Amino acid sequence: MHLLKMSRFSRRATIGLICLLPLAITALVSYPISVSTVNQELMQAGEAYQQRLDIQLSQLQTLNHQNLTGTFTKCERLKAKYHFATYMQDVYVFDNHEVRCSKDLGSLNKPLPTFLSSLVDDGQHVVIAPPFPQTGNRPTIILIERDPQTGKGSATIVDGEYIENDFKALEFRKARGVFLEINGQRLPVNSLVETGQVIIHSDQFGYDIHLLVSPEAVLHTYRDYLLALFPLTVVLSLFLAILVWKYISERHTLVDDIERGITNREFFLVYQPIFQTASNTITGVEVLVRWQHPKLGLVAPDMFVCMAEKHGLIIPLTDYILKVARQELGSLHFDQSFHVGVNVAPSHLTDVDPTAYFTRYKKAFLRRNMHLCIEITERQFLNESAANTISALQEAGVEVAIDDFGTGQTSLSVFPKITVDYLKIDKCFIDTIGQESVNSHVLEGIIALGKKMNFSLIAEGVETSDQAAYLINQKVDYLQGYLIAKPLRIRELKSFLKRNEKQLRIAA
Ligand code: C2E
Ligand code: CA
Ligand code: CA
Repeated sequence: MHLLKMSRFSRRATIGLICLLPLAITALVSYPISVSTVNQELMQAGEAYQQRLDIQLSQLQTLNHQNLTGTFTKCERLKAKYHFATYMQDVYVFDNHEVRCSKDLGSLNKPLPTFLSSLVDDGQHVVIAPPFPQTGNRPTIILIERDPQTGKGSATIVDGEYIENDFKALEFRKARGVFLEINGQRLPVNSLVETGQVIIHSDQFGYDIHLLVSPEAVLHTYRDYLLALFPLTVVLSLFLAILVWKYISERHTLVDDIERGITNREFFLVYQPIFQTASNTITGVEVLVRWQHPKLGLVAPDMFVCMAEKHGLIIPLTDYILKVARQELGSLHFDQSFHVGVNVAPSHLTDVDPTAYFTRYKKAFLRRNMHLCIEITERQFLNESAANTISALQEAGVEVAIDDFGTGQTSLSVFPKITVDYLKIDKCFIDTIGQESVNSHVLEGIIALGKKMNFSLIAEGVETSDQAAYLINQKVDYLQGYLIAKPLRIRELKSFLKRNEKQLRIAA
């Protein structure tokens, strides 16, 4: 029974661990949230940049188009308009690979530069061109529009550095690296080999902007989240710790109290007489436990029996009850065999060798002419191993009663396999006597079943002489209830038995 006692150290350790739980959860959950926040921010920055770049490229596309459709047919006008547009390395208006006009050189007639010559045949497109001596050894973005019918075209060459500078502004934010990619060509040309974690695609121009998430940015965001959530986490931890502390200490107070109560003999027994209808005499008792708690006063078994069961204390408690019952009842002298019903919890039937345990007590009771009967509530009855134990117990001469019969789900089909000595009909059915209700028919059924199976019937909670008269008339074997006697202390039982030694008249 000491197994369940938690040491003070492990109590503290449990509370400590539970305190850490919200912190651990916050730490674990915040990291992926930080990654996704940074990704989200990069995505927004990248999309904003992509929209800007699309607008700029559209303007250059319009320029190319104007060159073709004749708005700038006069080379001087083109030269004048874009002379100071430094981001533009050059604009070529060409006719079948012959340059007719250049933004820098004006009207001329010479072949297209070789780096451009190979690019112009594909109609309208955007390319990233690697550094060429003609482009000052700098990478460029080239927008080309060419009419395949006439062979006339216009190519606008934008300095790659102009775009790269924009990227720096983005990198300054949460990206470790940014590059533009068109058909496998990257800008900056020597950009990192990886693929970006955030990729934004331009449908209009077919390029991708790759953004590589900066681990520092993630860590910063992570730290910000942790700092922001820290006060809440601490409050939550404290709240949890208080709850757990209360639960553990309450549980332990009660469990400790039951243990202490057994040691200090705070539990005492009362005995409720059982009346045999055939002989009009008291032929036995049911043993019921009470607790005189030093602080709470008298505690009913409904309050602590299930607690003792839940926390593994029911076996020591039943052991105590059996010992006290044998000792107290043993002080009385019975001329005839006296029935002693003791309530037994299901966990007792699955404990180590319950047959040997109860047989030992049966023998001890028998030495004082008392017959031990264990009462098992119907709700616990169906379990197969419990059923086997019941058979073994009966073979060993321990009587078995099914308590609260009719309130559980015992299937009638178990009865050919299991025999019991007594069925205790629950009070709720006895209460229906004299009333027209569904349960009153159930009572008739239970009585008929008991007779058919040759089980002795004990009616529980008999309170009126009308109920007693009905039950006697139905040949129910035993009656138990306030009509006969309330549960009595051993002294009271002694005088009660003495008073009613001969016979007891209970029904009108
Ligand atoms: P139970 O085994 O069905 O016990 C019968 C309960 O009905 C007892 O309540 C008894 O005092 C009460 N009773 C008897 N006759 C009448 C009556 O005419 N009218 C009314 N209203 N009640 C009557 P108690 O002693 O409070 O026990 C309640 C339950 O606690 C028991 O139900 C049993 O399940 C459990 N219990 C009591 N003592 C023990 C014990 O020693 N060990 C175990 N494991 N359980 C126990
Ligand atoms: Ca009982
Ligand atoms: Ca009962």
